[in-house]
Amino acid sequence: MPRIAQETVEQIAAASDIVAVVGSYFPLKRAGTEYRAICPFHQEKTPSFFVSPAKQSYYCHGCGAGGSVFQFLMQYENIDFPEAVRRLAARAGISIIEEEISAEEETRQNLRKRLLRLHFETSAWFHRHLLRAKAAAHARGYLKSRGINIETAKRWQIGFAPNSWDALVRWATGEKFAKEELVESGLVKLQEEGNPRSRIYDRFRDRLMFPIHNDIGEVIAFSGRILDPQAPGGKYVNSPETPLFTKGNVLFGLHQSKRFIANARQAVVLEGQLDLITAFEAGIQNVVAPQGTALTERHAALLHRFADSVILFFDADPAGERAAERALEILFGGGFQVRIGEMPSGEDPDSMIRKFGAEAFRDRVNAAEDFFDFQINRKLSAAESNTTAGRVGFARKMSHFISLVPDLVLRDTLISRLAVRLRIPRDTLQQMVRAPARPAEGTPLTDDVATRQLSMPRHDLSVICKSALLDRELLQQIRRQPWNSIVKSIPGTELLSKIFESGLDPGDPASVAGFFASLPTSEASMLSHILANKELNEEMGLLFWMRLAAAELQRRKRQIEAILRLSSEDPAIQEQATQELKEILDLQSCFTDISRLSSPAQ
Ligand SMILES: [Zn+2]
Repeated sequence: MPRIAQETVEQIAAASDIVAVVGSYFPLKRAGTEYRAICPFHQEKTPSFFVSPAKQSYYCHGCGAGGSVFQFLMQYENIDFPEAVRRLAARAGISIIEEEISAEEETRQNLRKRLLRLHFETSAWFHRHLLRAKAAAHARGYLKSRGINIETAKRWQIGFAPNSWDALVRWATGEKFAKEELVESGLVKLQEEGNPRSRIYDRFRDRLMFPIHNDIGEVIAFSGRILDPQAPGGKYVNSPETPLFTKGNVLFGLHQSKRFIANARQAVVLEGQLDLITAFEAGIQNVVAPQGTALTERHAALLHRFADSVILFFDADPAGERAAERALEILFGGGFQVRIGEMPSGEDPDSMIRKFGAEAFRDRVNAAEDFFDFQINRKLSAAESNTTAGRVGFARKMSHFISLVPDLVLRDTLISRLAVRLRIPRDTLQQMVRAPARPAEGTPLTDDVATRQLSMPRHDLSVICKSALLDRELLQQIRRQPWNSIVKSIPGTELLSKIFESGLDPGDPASVAGFFASLPTSEASMLSHILANKELNEEMGLLFWMRLAAAELQRRKRQIEAILRLSSEDPAIQEQATQELKEILDLQSCFTDISRLSSPAQ
């Protein structure tokens, strides 16, 4: 990925007033010099979410969310930093300067843009056919029979691919899409595979078309459902892998459901697109479906941006259980809590909602049990349960899943609970559980401010942070001092060091926002809380800084003096210690005000 130039980030920060940006998502109420609202990141009745125009940052007293305009967008839209920068740039009409873009990269990006355009327009074209074409009457009839009305078809942009070998080819060619682009998109096939000069024909014919979106809502592929049961080909035909679409990366419906999943921190994983659409329309909206494949580690990583727990619905047959097994391994390995829901036999969520109504399905969702409880309650047979050997055998199966859980505390809890419930010694179970599995490749370390407690730097460090961010003169003074030799051995000063070594200018809001943007989410959040904390008196910054330096230098001096006393016989050590002592005295002279500020009483 090309990097976005830091100047560009600052330029975008300067053009993106945080009050205007946040205010474009939900109304803000003025409260003194700040603005407040009900926090969008946690459930609350009285507003504890504040936006400060002066500091160009936001923070929530309730859940700890906070940061600059970039972090707000990242958190609210669940997008990454480059994407947040791009969206704010688009909003401000700034073109992004991306560094070091190779010719190859440019070609790739241009192709991507063209393919997105093609998918977007094709989706609309399929949709128009479904709504208007005479030849689509059976497709409309089918949707009706599945209880899907026009509104729903519009919301999910459901379409119809005409029963023709070249309807799409002719239309797309008329829209000036090149043959190579059509082939790359997977919407058409080459008559002779691998021969780019052979004729092309439509991949999807006489099918109900579901556009597949990525999580930010771009159409990147299609899934076509058969309408004539006699027709050749599978029940579903999906787009092949293309520069836009990798099967194991996409969760169907996520672009619509992500806000609901993020609110609940929980996702219901369903099997098919129709299940998902029916459930979503019936009001069970925190749903996703793996697209055209079993659940993958990439899916788990994607889902982890929004959810901590997952509800799976087992198909009651052995094949369904085997498929679920792999999904369980992936979910446990990804650090999810897993609950299991049950369907009446022969029903899927779609058929169940249509027959028994949304409430019946919602009850099933709510009744979903923790995976281990479910196993013990439903899968442990009476015969197994009655013998120690039976229970130990069962425990062995369960220990496989526990050993996948990356969180050690959670593993320990699970082991204890299971040992009690299975009436076997805890140590026995402990031994069955293997050493901790490493987190799966591609599983991001969660850095989610809304759900994690922040550990604030100690009081004096927080005050210095706050002052350095607000007081240009103080920051300049510290930067002229050999500050690194002071903070390098004081724990908890990482954020402070970042402020000192940055190019940050406290008087310039864009520069402050640019600095915020350079921080990981957790640090940006911490800093916005420090800024917002009225108990931290920024006027004390200089005093605290000088005291910190004095105390640190004093500590080192005592250490060296002790060495000198203890090793008076060894000339080499003596010499080194004397040298170090001299360095400390030099440092002390750099902090000229130390004696006056640190010990006024002496
Ligand atoms: Zn909050």
